[in-house]
Amino acid sequence: MNKAILLRKRPVGRPTVNDFEFTSAAIPVPTTGDVLLLTLYVSVDPYLRGRMNDSKSYVPSFEIGKPIQSGIIAQVIDSTHAEFRKGDYVSGNLEWQEYQVSNGKGLTKVDAKVSPLSSYLGVLGMTGLTAYLGLTEIGIPKAGETIVVSGAAGAVGSVVGQIGKIMGCRVVGITGTDEKAELLISKFKFDSAINYKTSHDLKKAVSNACPKGVDIYFDNVGGEISDAVLSNINKHARLPVCGAISQYNDTKIPVGPRLQPILLTKSATMRGFIVSDFSAKFPAAIKQLAAWLKEGKLTYAETIVSGFDNLPQAFIDLFDGKNAGKMIVKI
Ligand code: NDP
Repeated sequence: MNKAILLRKRPVGRPTVNDFEFTSAAIPVPTTGDVLLLTLYVSVDPYLRGRMNDSKSYVPSFEIGKPIQSGIIAQVIDSTHAEFRKGDYVSGNLEWQEYQVSNGKGLTKVDAKVSPLSSYLGVLGMTGLTAYLGLTEIGIPKAGETIVVSGAAGAVGSVVGQIGKIMGCRVVGITGTDEKAELLISKFKFDSAINYKTSHDLKKAVSNACPKGVDIYFDNVGGEISDAVLSNINKHARLPVCGAISQYNDTKIPVGPRLQPILLTKSATMRGFIVSDFSAKFPAAIKQLAAWLKEGKLTYAETIVSGFDNLPQAFIDLFDGKNAGKMIVKI
């Protein structure tokens, strides 16, 4: 049988496992030109929360009663497709199903001999690209500058900080536990790390960690953490707005400090982006990330949860910071 996970109802506020429906049906049969895929690794990502709402965004909403989709690494187990052979590993935006048929559109072959399969969902996939392109295209780091990263111990943040170090910057990470703060310094070589949950005065903690002020703020979380960083930015600071996870479950629009006077008086640039804005640069970016990995200049962490049935909970756990590095479900 083939298990699938569908959206049962649109979450209100924080998602629960009840918002998902577990179903089971016959394994689909491919027709000519198709591949039959067996799911191996599934990426759970904060942005999926936005797709569960019934609102217009840069990607269509998930439909009630239809499978959730996300980045997946699968193995081709049957094929009459010209480009894919039985045994190939592929990556694609696929459905939360154990087996599925694809006509090959949007599938990319990945090589398990070059890098572990799960890494194509993280450092060599969408989150690595987001870190690299958001930082280099919008942050535009220069040696000697100070970068602050929020969500620093997560999939995107941990790569941002390491690239900042490669580029000769001072890097400060903000994260939610002491263990993750320690990981930022020991494994990812950040210069300093702040636990936002135990810091009584975050604005001051950022100021202490950044004696020369903040030149680049790579924002993964939004909200009060970002307010505290913004009050420490330097003239001509650049602020790539990558994510706002602290607000994804909000049911009301929060009111915070008005940013315009800060941006104005600091001649600062705050720019939101979606990684696909830079799709033309993906091949070069992947080449660079792979080269840094091979040279040992870049490393990564993964939190791997086992079992198809645990997919919804792994997704929900992102909002509790249960992951260090990329959250992945191994099927
Ligand atoms: P992460 O691996 O960083 O996982 C999410 C982390 O967010 C958690 O581990 C948790 O860490 C932190 N978090 C959860 N709730 C809160 C909160 N209320 N306040 C502060 N931190 C919180 O996810 P990704 O690296 O995949 O994504 C990071 C951000 O980048 C997300 O906002 C995501 O939407 C965005 N993104 C944007 C893309 C784009 O194209 N613009 C592409 C990919 C991701 P902690 O313990 O530190 O709280």
